[in-house]
Amino acid sequence: MAASVKYRLLALAVLVACLGMASTRSIAQGAAPAADTREAKKAFGAIKQPSGEQPPRAIGQYDHGCVAGAVKFPANGPGWQVMRLSRNRVWGHPVLLAYLGKLAGDYQRLDREPGILVGDMGQPIGGPLLGGHASHQIGLDADLWYLPMPSRELSIEDRENASAPNVVNAATLTADKAQWKLAQAKLLRRAASYPEVARIFVHPAVKKALCDTAGTNRTWLRKIRPWFKHDDHFHIRLNCPEGSASCAAQAPVPADGDGCGKELDDWFQKLRAKPKPAPQLPPAKPMLVSDMPAECQALLAATEQAERIKAAASDR
Ligand SMILES: [Zn+2]
Repeated sequence: MAASVKYRLLALAVLVACLGMASTRSIAQGAAPAADTREAKKAFGAIKQPSGEQPPRAIGQYDHGCVAGAVKFPANGPGWQVMRLSRNRVWGHPVLLAYLGKLAGDYQRLDREPGILVGDMGQPIGGPLLGGHASHQIGLDADLWYLPMPSRELSIEDRENASAPNVVNAATLTADKAQWKLAQAKLLRRAASYPEVARIFVHPAVKKALCDTAGTNRTWLRKIRPWFKHDDHFHIRLNCPEGSASCAAQAPVPADGDGCGKELDDWFQKLRAKPKPAPQLPPAKPMLVSDMPAECQALLAATEQAERIKAAASDR
């Protein structure tokens, strides 16, 4: 009996020692933190501003990534006004801000137009958005309205409530002459003319209108890409900037041709085709924070930590 008690105590002591060693080892090696199973668009969408000064970096893919060191685009500037300020999607890599400022200024000075209306850019640290876009995640995408900027300064309410006019006649799939003017054609041409632009997405009817009036200098048309929707705004996407080693570039646009031929015809066929009944698929699994690139998970965690410290300091 005494021997068996002694044996049991010994076994317990060994067990405790082993557990102790195991926990010491896991601390020393840095135990892997539990996977962050929050929905990515909710976590990234809740960030109000970037934390501290970080070197700017676009990380990951346009539709699966984030941005460090993003900068806030001012609501007004020479030749621009930003719409829907309440969304807080006015952040971007500094190259995007520089591009938009240059475009707005050149459009005013060289094309003699009042300016541009800027729609959604990205969130403070990028990442998936709560509604409206698959891309706009790495600080290099911006939506512009086709509607030219009015000469007066818009109020906050105007910017929330004004609706972006559709420039495409849905029945004829042509540019609507009441909305599509020379000012818009000049803006698209100007926007595509800078080397930092990778692509500009427009409705196929907008591309057709540009193809029909471009004249002999047509190289810029290559970057104007037909895509679904994009009938009340167009979408500018910049190339990966220098210093963003983990930014995933898209394949460059075709090196020759203006994209006005068969490719565009195929788009109209696609748009005129009878919609097929949607297949019954199970709902897509939401993107989790743990599905995001590791650099983006780390950026989110660091930003949330900084927000907590700030909130605690302001509570005191
Ligand atoms: Zn867009």
